[in-house]
Amino acid sequence: MKTDFSPLPLESPAFKELEQKFKACRKDFPMLQQKIEGQNFIYFDTAATSLKPQKVIDACTHYYTHLGLNAHRGDFSINHRLEQEMQSCRELAKNFLGAKHSEEIIFTSGATASLNAMAYGFQDYLKSGDIVLTTHLEHASALLPWFDLAKKKGIIIKYLPLEKGLVELETFKKQIEPNVKVVLMTHMSNTLGYENPIFEIGNFLKDKNILFLVDAAQSAAHLPLNVENACIDALAISCHKILGPTGLGLLYLHQKHHSTFKPLFLGGGSNARFSEDGSYQLKYAPTKFESGTQHLAGILAFKEALLYLQACDLKAIHSYEQSLMHYLKTELQKIEHIEVYNLEAPSSTVLFNCKGIFAQDAAHYFASKGIAIRSGHHCAKLSHHVLQQDETLRITLSFYNTLEELNQFLYHIKQITLEACIALYLE
Ligand code: PMP
Repeated sequence: MKTDFSPLPLESPAFKELEQKFKACRKDFPMLQQKIEGQNFIYFDTAATSLKPQKVIDACTHYYTHLGLNAHRGDFSINHRLEQEMQSCRELAKNFLGAKHSEEIIFTSGATASLNAMAYGFQDYLKSGDIVLTTHLEHASALLPWFDLAKKKGIIIKYLPLEKGLVELETFKKQIEPNVKVVLMTHMSNTLGYENPIFEIGNFLKDKNILFLVDAAQSAAHLPLNVENACIDALAISCHKILGPTGLGLLYLHQKHHSTFKPLFLGGGSNARFSEDGSYQLKYAPTKFESGTQHLAGILAFKEALLYLQACDLKAIHSYEQSLMHYLKTELQKIEHIEVYNLEAPSSTVLFNCKGIFAQDAAHYFASKGIAIRSGHHCAKLSHHVLQQDETLRITLSFYNTLEELNQFLYHIKQITLEACIALYLE
């Protein structure tokens, strides 16, 4: 059940309507109002982090200005208001992810923390010889904790065969053998941008005693999610990639694991009691998984991010971004010195290279024109197994990007030469 994808023709009234809607949003993003070295700022790296609307920034300031106490650690009225705000963010996040219970939403410090918590939290579920099935396209934050556990516990990591950068359901089914205990995959890779069929995979795995762990850091801002329908055991997202603050993430953990999943951190706030003999008793979820003072300003700000996203409507965002991306890929394909690696990916990501120019030099060239794009291996250092390329350029679009920005970028990419890139270092 993949997300519907059909790019709108740019002249169609439907596209024009979305264009008008999202152009009006641009005024909400202060980063877009500034000039960088005298040039308009064109931001094409939303996969690294999204820009933040003013309401999100204001909510952070509001916390420090008016509500700057601690939560669950005081009996003053402000402590209680904060706790209500946290709960209301948790409720919104629950609906956003399609979870059943707000207790299944755990605040962490980012997707990296959520992915680490997942691996270490479930480690007792696996013994030596058990298999974690994953892909070559995973982010370092998803894979490295499992590499560590593989060494410590003798767990085996196996990689799924991919078809054009994608897990294909029937091929996937054939990889399931008795020792497979965990399937770990990204919903949408941060390099090739294909959407994995998580609904079908989750439903196939549901009665097989295999944990289904999903990294949704890249998809959350672009694709609707429903953890319950997709039978996901645990899922990670980064709030800063979906209009929210840095230093905050979510870990979705299905209620059925709340008594066995091991918290990554122990300490203040999460325990009901502890004694001299070393015994301790933890509180109920989600508190037992949230030791220490939370990123309270961030949680208040993330609530605003979710409300903003809700008002924009994820389906409209998806449709607009797809239409822009379809245009960009079509135009890039026409340029002789450009090689595109993910033409068929229905996502807001394009991965490409300028032939004969090192990716970072090309990114530097675009930076000199006020355009921020990403170069490198994008933290998915095994992706060369799929891509046969070490370094690439990546553009990720968001609803705050415009057709005019794409045309400006296309103008510059048509002019790029190795000599022009070298000249920048000599200036
Ligand atoms: N997974 C994926 C797919 C990502 O793209 C990222 C961020 N690039 C992460 C995990 C880690 O997110 P964070 O750095 O916000 O913890």
